[in-house]
Amino acid sequence: MTSQTRGRTPDADRIRRAPKVLLHDHLDGGLRPATVVELAREQGYRNLPETDAAALGRWFREAADSGSLERYLETFAHTCAVMQSRDALFRVAAECAEDLAADGVVYAEVRYAPEQHLTGGLGLEEVVEAVNDGFREGERRARAAGRRIRVGALLTAMRHAARSLEIAELANRYRDAGVVGFDIAGAEAGYPPTRHLDAFEYLKRENNHFTIHAGEAFGLPSIWQALQWCGADRLGHGVRIIDDIQVAGDGTVKLGRLAAYVRDKRVPLELCPSSNLQTGAAPSYREHPIGLLRELGFRATVNTDNRLMSGTSMSAEFGHLVDSFDYTLDDMQWFTVNAMKSAFIPFDERLAMINDVIKPGYAELKSEWLFATAGAGPRG
Ligand SMILES: [Zn+2]
Repeated sequence: MTSQTRGRTPDADRIRRAPKVLLHDHLDGGLRPATVVELAREQGYRNLPETDAAALGRWFREAADSGSLERYLETFAHTCAVMQSRDALFRVAAECAEDLAADGVVYAEVRYAPEQHLTGGLGLEEVVEAVNDGFREGERRARAAGRRIRVGALLTAMRHAARSLEIAELANRYRDAGVVGFDIAGAEAGYPPTRHLDAFEYLKRENNHFTIHAGEAFGLPSIWQALQWCGADRLGHGVRIIDDIQVAGDGTVKLGRLAAYVRDKRVPLELCPSSNLQTGAAPSYREHPIGLLRELGFRATVNTDNRLMSGTSMSAEFGHLVDSFDYTLDDMQWFTVNAMKSAFIPFDERLAMINDVIKPGYAELKSEWLFATAGAGPRG
């Protein structure tokens, strides 16, 4: 065993045990397939394409694999359909926190659109309270299993709808009660974020935080609007910022004005590699812009987007990146600290998470090689 062990790529077990931070994960995109089946049965929902949990899980991934964002979004009709009661929302939120904790996530911001959970008769506040209660329950279950996780909610408004100001007000009302920020989501084509300026201006006046889905299917104009017109704190995806970066044949890199602004201002990019592959925003993990963005020092973070539709997890995302870019635990720590710095909870709490949870967690993993007995050392 030599000191070179330290620089080697981590194996799946270490990736899972490493503390991780998740900023971009959709509640209605992360259900357990078995839960979808059970909720549908309880509620008499008959439109599921499969009633066997494993087959349904495969169906979600295949439907999402079709290469179009619009088709990808269709899969949410089924998950949202079974999330229309307090009990269902509570259960899904609790399981979400449990699953993330089991995957080594120590801090997560999970988003959902309250307006999509009203058809069973719940009001917006009841939706928010059910989800918050579910997250608290999931945190408790994780603790009982010897794990620690903290989950904050982001309230999402839909780009094609006209309720963004109302949802922004809702986010503000619950900001000290489990909701840490606001988001806009939905198909980018035809629905620019500038349609929702009143919501963003309201949040700015309230000193609140928001992220905007931008630069996923659409390119630079969408990112530019989200930052310079709407004032987004973070970019949901933002992966198309790569279109403003030129790499010459000799390796020289030239940033356009927008890319330079994003890097200079440390604008967090909520990158979601597997999701991008499914929607066609990137051709392969190896060719995913995250490799270059990390090299250039952008505030890049790693995220799951929709764990059910992509059949993924934070550990799986990091696994793909480790395989593609030979990332080490130092790289994982860099992405994780980036994400924690970019979270919407107060600065002192972010700092404590970095210094008291994340750095010690990585230090522990990185030090394991020192204590390995000959011939039985950790591999990687
Ligand atoms: Zn998303």
